[in-house]
Amino acid sequence: MSKISVTVLGTTAGVPTRTRAHSSLYVSYDDGEEECLLFDCGEGTQRQLMTAGLNMMKIDNIFITHWHGDHCLGLPGLVDTMGFEGRERPLDIFAPEAKRVGKCLSFSYSIGGYRVNPRFVPFRGRGVKRVLEKERFDVLSGAVEHSVPAVAYAIAEKDKETVDPEKARAAGLPPEGPVYGEIKEKGSVEYAGRRVFFGDISRLEKGKKLVFSGDTLICDNLRTLAAGADLLIQDCTYFGPVGRVRAYKHACLPEVLEMVSSIGVKRTVLTHISRRFGDPDKLRAMVEEYPGVEVAEDLMVVVI
Ligand SMILES: [Zn+2]
Repeated sequence: MSKISVTVLGTTAGVPTRTRAHSSLYVSYDDGEEECLLFDCGEGTQRQLMTAGLNMMKIDNIFITHWHGDHCLGLPGLVDTMGFEGRERPLDIFAPEAKRVGKCLSFSYSIGGYRVNPRFVPFRGRGVKRVLEKERFDVLSGAVEHSVPAVAYAIAEKDKETVDPEKARAAGLPPEGPVYGEIKEKGSVEYAGRRVFFGDISRLEKGKKLVFSGDTLICDNLRTLAAGADLLIQDCTYFGPVGRVRAYKHACLPEVLEMVSSIGVKRTVLTHISRRFGDPDKLRAMVEEYPGVEVAEDLMVVVI
């Protein structure tokens, strides 16, 4: 069984506070072999990584949702520190307007020592696109509605055929043993004078889905990307009524609640919280009657 562990490194909106840093998520995907990804890299991200006890050198892919400063100004520092620490492996940075990767990193004389590859992420049109394919999961994106080109991302684990212990028992196989390695590899196995096929003892294990909205109004592409998600890390800049939402193109609590209940999101963590909502207890009280909805705090860890 895989484990997807999400560390929410920063939870503020445009301006940082003493308790909330700028946007960034560290994701560890582990099913025996670990893969680490970073989503957004606001100012101060590398110190948040250190405070959380996470190893920045494990990150091979960074995904930027959009180029507002609160989501990207930590990039030059992080890239520099990886160089100081002796990185040699290339680093891929995915982003809409990917040419800005080079611009962002050109502010300073970087230590260098390894390749940084900008990767283009489509930021127009309807629908969900795959931007990275790994053996065990895909990273998907969809253009969203913000005041500048912006995308939301998802890590969508692939469905997997796995052994159903009940079916295996019914087929007369032992609880464990080399027979399972053989049946997975060859598709069938001869056991106790009978041929047993993998299809007879397997079931489909649905892959998990983690979604990060970035900054956006609630929109069709976000709904499509987040439908049925196990975990959604969601822009909720405003906890009040719709009001200012349209001008700044962020989500607000009433619209987020409507969306997650209508598209079947299992767990929602509200982030990108405006500094005007200073009292976390008040925010928590506003969502306590909605099961599966919670308010993010810096360095909180959510595992699915
Ligand atoms: Zn922002």
